[in-house]
Amino acid sequence: MSVCSNNRPCPCTFDCPRHGRCCECVAHHRDNNEGVPGCFFSTAAEATYDRSIEALCRDRGINIQG
Ligand code: SF4
Repeated sequence: MSVCSNNRPCPCTFDCPRHGRCCECVAHHRDNNEGVPGCFFSTAAEATYDRSIEALCRDRGINIQG
């Protein structure tokens, strides 16, 4: 998994060696319970570094209160 052919620009602003290496990014977040990768969020929400599913739902206007 050290080579990733995905060379899309990474919008995540966190200082991280996995920028642009989406497969490593997703695996890292999954394996370390770090929530949702930054590229799923809007620019404003990404900048808060809250990677929770709740933050993602707020950002996307999804009501999870039931
Ligand atoms: S979402 Fe996480 S793993 Fe991915 S580039 Fe940003 S800080 Fe790194």
